[in-house]
Amino acid sequence: MGHLGAIVIIVIVFAIVVFRSRTTHFECPNCDHSFKVSSLNYIFTLHAGLSRFATCPNCGKGALMTPVGDKN
Ligand SMILES: [Zn+2]
Repeated sequence: MGHLGAIVIIVIVFAIVVFRSRTTHFECPNCDHSFKVSSLNYIFTLHAGLSRFATCPNCGKGALMTPVGDKN
């Protein structure tokens, strides 16, 4: 019986992460380029606290970056 509860929690956490990856972006500390990463990338990348390791598609530099909320 405990299995179903665990699966529900995993699905909810997954949904939150996907939602966050879609509503946030990163800003490169090297060249100020703003970019988004895919949900899968967001989930499996290295992270420390709120920061995540991302590679800038503009200058190719990888760094720990803090997600920034998208402005609508
Ligand atoms: Zn950059």
